[in-house]
Amino acid sequence: MKVVNSIKEMQNLANEAKKAGKKISFVPTMGALHKGHLELISEGRKRGDLLVVSIFVNPTQFGPNEDFNRYPRDIEGDLKKARETGVDVVFTPTIEEMYPEGFQTYVEVSKLQNHLCGIFRHGHFRGVATVVLKLFNIVKPDVAIFGEKDYQQLKIIQRMVKDLNLEIEIVGFPVVREEGGLACSSRNSYLSHEDKECASTIYRALQEMKIEFERGQLSAREITEKGKRILKRAGIEEIDYIEVCDPETLESKQRATKGDIVAVAVRIKGVRLIDNIKL
Ligand code: AMP
Repeated sequence: MKVVNSIKEMQNLANEAKKAGKKISFVPTMGALHKGHLELISEGRKRGDLLVVSIFVNPTQFGPNEDFNRYPRDIEGDLKKARETGVDVVFTPTIEEMYPEGFQTYVEVSKLQNHLCGIFRHGHFRGVATVVLKLFNIVKPDVAIFGEKDYQQLKIIQRMVKDLNLEIEIVGFPVVREEGGLACSSRNSYLSHEDKECASTIYRALQEMKIEFERGQLSAREITEKGKRILKRAGIEEIDYIEVCDPETLESKQRATKGDIVAVAVRIKGVRLIDNIKL
């Protein structure tokens, strides 16, 4: 496994692989790799000849009051896990090389970014779309894998690829969960055992909302009120949003239909957690 820090070196490696007729698969991450990341990486292994994983905690997608500085970092552990999962290249650029002085070009997926997390994390998706486009231009993948846990992010990347005519196949991968149902996340490491138990209510609430829909409840309000009650009973008071939304436009729905997404974001002891389920 190669570890590459330099953008130029990564581009050269990608060019050589392409010349040799290799298909490049790519999994972008912010590191602190967990089971969710590793499943995406295994999927990437199946889909390409040269599997590249990037590890970059991207400052432009964090707001001024967010957790950029304390975001979990474990490069040694990550390299070990990547090696064991069959990664060919780990790309870990520096902030200075990714955003040199004078940097001023950003990508905005203008409508999709105005829903769900975009309302609470101003500028977040602009940072995400920009860094992902930069990484695409550096790694030159044929296929890239993104998790459905970050559903809005996946939709934004798919839209950007379509709108900007990038020749990259975007694959969505189902949410990977811990034993109690909590969606795997690097941020789970901020939580105590007790907090995690409390956080597993998020998935239970999503499942109960889906059951309510399957029983014939089509009112998005009734469905989400049920979810809110379950969360509150478990002591989760800080709910950024809980919404039934269109799976493509992410617009909030009043009447739920099959295939809609129920998306939720909460804070537990200041740790922001998101999850979703398809109806
Ligand atoms: P991150 O390191 O949090 O930026 O995540 C990197 C990639 O892994 C993104 O495409 C995420 O959607 C994906 N991912 C993170 N957690 C999970 C999970 N629990 N299940 C599926 N994909 C995930």
